[in-house]
Amino acid sequence: MTNWAWLKPELDRLHEQRLFRRVREVTSLPEAWCLVEGRRLRNFAGNDYLNLSHDPRVIEAACVAAQEAGTGSTASALVCGRTPWHAALETQLAQFKGEEAAILFPTGYAANLGTLAALAGTEDIVLCDRLNHASLVDGCRLSGAKFRVYRHDDLAGLEAQLHKATGFRRRLIVTDSVFSMDGDVAPLPELCALAERFDALLIVDEAHATGVFGTDGHGIAEAQGVAGRVSVSIGTLSKALGGLGGFVAGSTDLIDYLRNHARPQMFSTALPPAQCAAASAALRIIQAEPERRQLLLKGSARLAQSLRDAGLNLGGQPAGPIIPVLLNDPAKALAVARELESAGYLVAAIRPPTVPQGTSRLRITLTTATAGASSQALAGQLLPMNLA
Ligand SMILES: *Cc1c(COP(=O)(O)O)cnc(C)c1O
Repeated sequence: MTNWAWLKPELDRLHEQRLFRRVREVTSLPEAWCLVEGRRLRNFAGNDYLNLSHDPRVIEAACVAAQEAGTGSTASALVCGRTPWHAALETQLAQFKGEEAAILFPTGYAANLGTLAALAGTEDIVLCDRLNHASLVDGCRLSGAKFRVYRHDDLAGLEAQLHKATGFRRRLIVTDSVFSMDGDVAPLPELCALAERFDALLIVDEAHATGVFGTDGHGIAEAQGVAGRVSVSIGTLSKALGGLGGFVAGSTDLIDYLRNHARPQMFSTALPPAQCAAASAALRIIQAEPERRQLLLKGSARLAQSLRDAGLNLGGQPAGPIIPVLLNDPAKALAVARELESAGYLVAAIRPPTVPQGTSRLRITLTTATAGASSQALAGQLLPMNLA
């Protein structure tokens, strides 16, 4: 029998510091409802921003593809796993993003890991916003490049680091476009200008922006008018598209390079064809129904304003459906989330290491279905708790 006693002190430490995570069973239901331990709660914790995971058209597309092609893709894309559904979705994603080509990955995490490790190496330097998603950080580390972190949105600090970054083969600036735990938006025009001035690549992770921001839902690069100036645009099918998978859009040469060098894509089984069909259907809805994201952004702005007016600390400037309420202490974040849950609302308590020490928070996320009356009802629960 293996002796696992050495794990005990670490688990005890997590419990003592209120950082232990219990992973519960949650069933997602239509219209942002969910079932948790037998109770129906309104889901203010997921990332299904447009409620497409339960859209009948998306489900139907997945069912049809599963009936025809089975549940799995049987192999990696390189071997025999790239079905016509993969090819069609890649073409559709490239057109959607206004790029020449696109490549699918098993997840957004894998897309970030694979892309950074393929584009950077030991002769290069990567400059990362301090609040970047863990998958970008892990990709930077895996690449073996020199890894430098700049303070969140600190353009002057980044510029100073770029000045010093001489003697490297390539310089990469890496950023989320919408920060996943803060909901604020990166200044892409300024980052583009720095990248151009210092001959750096700009890698932008649009995980939370795809389908949500921009007139046509392409993301923050579209919203800020710099779509053609971003070197590499990464996205996920797992948030506003309601499914699973990651993708990179860019020039044909970039995508060909990634097909030959991005190891999480090369050595992982391709997405199930049904997932590709579902994402294709979701993408068509995103393009045909802009009112979904308009409703979402309007409701999000209203909720953020009413929380801010009540003196709650939302951190920076949440600009969309991710609205953090900073409580700082992990035990307090847990207690407030628990109280909201007993009132019928599922809201995530986010603690280190997901966010920096001392910045534990509630992370409220809205969807098209909750952006109206139910977000006002949530505010009605939250405000009397006197968290300011
Ligand atoms: C969720 C997220 C990812 C990972 O995407 P998955 O498809 O869930 O693996 C990557 N980047 C950011 C910023 C995210 O929030």
